Amino acid sequence: MTLEFTSRNCWEVYAAPKELKAMQALADRYIDFLSRCKTERETIAYVKERLQKAGYDESMKGGKVMRDLHGKSLFIARRGKAPLARGLRFIGAHADTPRLDLKQRPMQEQAGVGQAKTHYYGGIRKYQWLARPLAIHGVIVRQDGKSIAVSLGEGPGEPVFTIADLLPHLAKDQAEQPLAKVFDAERLNLIVAHRPLGKAGGGKKDTSGAAKEPIRAHIFKLLNDKYGVVEEDLYSAELQAVPAGPARYVGLDSALIGGYGQDDRICVFCALEALLDAQNIPEHTQCLVFWDKEEIGSEGSTGAKSRFFEYCIEDLIAAWEPKSRLSTVMLATKGISADVHAAIDPDWQELHEKLNAALIGHGPCFCKFTGSRGKYEANDAHPEYVAWLRGLLNRQGIPWQMAELGKVDGGGGGTVAMHLAAYGMDIIDCGPPVLSMHSPFELAGVADLYATTLAFGAFLRA
Ligand code: MN
Ligand code: MN
Repeated sequence: MTLEFTSRNCWEVYAAPKELKAMQALADRYIDFLSRCKTERETIAYVKERLQKAGYDESMKGGKVMRDLHGKSLFIARRGKAPLARGLRFIGAHADTPRLDLKQRPMQEQAGVGQAKTHYYGGIRKYQWLARPLAIHGVIVRQDGKSIAVSLGEGPGEPVFTIADLLPHLAKDQAEQPLAKVFDAERLNLIVAHRPLGKAGGGKKDTSGAAKEPIRAHIFKLLNDKYGVVEEDLYSAELQAVPAGPARYVGLDSALIGGYGQDDRICVFCALEALLDAQNIPEHTQCLVFWDKEEIGSEGSTGAKSRFFEYCIEDLIAAWEPKSRLSTVMLATKGISADVHAAIDPDWQELHEKLNAALIGHGPCFCKFTGSRGKYEANDAHPEYVAWLRGLLNRQGIPWQMAELGKVDGGGGGTVAMHLAAYGMDIIDCGPPVLSMHSPFELAGVADLYATTLAFGAFLRA
């Protein structure tokens, strides 16, 4: 009997050639997924495509169900042998990520460049978005209802966009200001053009506005040529500036994955892989929901505070088991709020309390409670449920760890867990540890990706 607990390094647990091969294949698929999915819409479209291939459809009558809301959040269910009244095995994750949204009227011209003004979405450190290549993804919806998908800056030869940073020679005053004040959100302006509209730009002399702001006029001409839109169409657009380019392996050993949006797309990916991997009909009905808007407080019709999940369960009950009650199903459900956890930053170790901190490489991390200032706004999972979960993973030899988000009173954060706990289900936060969370280049471990997928699979089958 081991009296003291030590978490295990996944690289040591999964050292067999067969496992390393499966790990590598999973990581390759994940890098492709991360490189292709930079917005919640692109993520949901990717997931739907893979589900369709696996026989999922919109009908609640079948045993493999998927239903999306506005293309931004997705409900998935796979029917089990047991009645719904015995509860679901539920995993919820979020598909939205911190970024710079273009304002509704974004385009301006000043000092020889055309810029798109932005309004940041979620918790970003503003300096990380300066002087780096950015892409624009999103949709423009015309008043006739036609939605135009936009993806600019990802192709190898395609131009990118960027926000210029101040040169050090003129940053003397700026360098003396506190970090919270020094980066002004109204200066996060994306450079989108430089050449004025004119004869060379292909326009007529009297094009509206061209004389006064010829670069701005040129932007609208280019957008019109490419997408057939005018400035007013941008009022009904959602355009997001995100880091340009693919995700990459990191390190001499390629043991880490660097890329944008791993909070929380890594959990979306692990949960999807775990669901699709399962061959036999499960005991309990398996249910995944991928939400939008988590990074801005889970508000909105596509966020976890909305009734979308509940409506889907109601329809599932009506189709499969009309005599069961929503409350019975929810109270019997076991859930995982799948979200990433902050790994101990090697250069900022003093911000973590090491007995209760997550190590990258040591597998999925449970977080019994999140919140801040004395567990305020936390779902604090019940010990009976924690015991059930660790027993489950231990029996299958899957490494796991448990941590809090930093030192007490050192900050904090929240997830979707508390909104699900409101239904009375058992729920806990669990996900892989990441470094550089919320940055344009987040880092996750290849072995953690693998162990988390196995853990989610074990949970769904339990
Ligand atoms: Mn998250
Ligand atoms: Mn986050």
